[in-house]
Amino acid sequence: MDDRQFRNAMGKFATGVTVVATEVDGNIHGMTANAFMSVSLNPKLVVVSIAEKAQMLEKVTKSGTFSVNILSADQQELSMVFAGQVKKQQEVVFDRIGRIPVLNGAIAQIACEVSSAHVEGDHTLFIGKVLDVHLEDSEPLIYYSGKYREMVEEGALDGK
Ligand code: FAD
Repeated sequence: MDDRQFRNAMGKFATGVTVVATEVDGNIHGMTANAFMSVSLNPKLVVVSIAEKAQMLEKVTKSGTFSVNILSADQQELSMVFAGQVKKQQEVVFDRIGRIPVLNGAIAQIACEVSSAHVEGDHTLFIGKVLDVHLEDSEPLIYYSGKYREMVEEGALDGK
């Protein structure tokens, strides 16, 4: 199996889109990630998977804290900014939960401290102990087969 075939297969899993954010020496760094899931309810744990080549790896390792920000349907441009797909530097507004930076306008802001890190192949899995969450009531951004999508409610397209 070649890499493209593997990537295509993994892309068949529809996901939301998150921006993982952390702060080192007063500088906030964000990175788009869809390799995110809930791990445990008691204690409350989540996991994000970060590539060894990503700047984010060293930054989360140093700070020991991060946030996962689940993007709303109108935040596709921010996803592209934090994936390095928009070359122009942009001013992005962050809020805070405690001292952890979180992305303004995300539908869920999840503040975590690193509970453990596991190197697996060319990625590191960071298990985050959830410290607090803030929620917004709006629609999520979806990623499927390499493209951004929006959710459509069942029945909404009937009659078209
Ligand atoms: P860089 O590439 O240096 O930074 C990312 C971009 O964010 C740069 O353009 C930078 O200017 C901008 N940026 C960072 N901080 C700020 C700030 N404070 N204000 C304004 N702009 C800022 N990779 C993974 O490892 N795991 C995943 O789960 C994952 N999922 C992805 C899902 C999608 C839908 C996409 C499109 C990409 C995904 N990636 C994932 C790839 C990852 O987002 C990119 O490789 C990213 O460029 C890696 O970021 P970096 O930490 O190396 O930092």
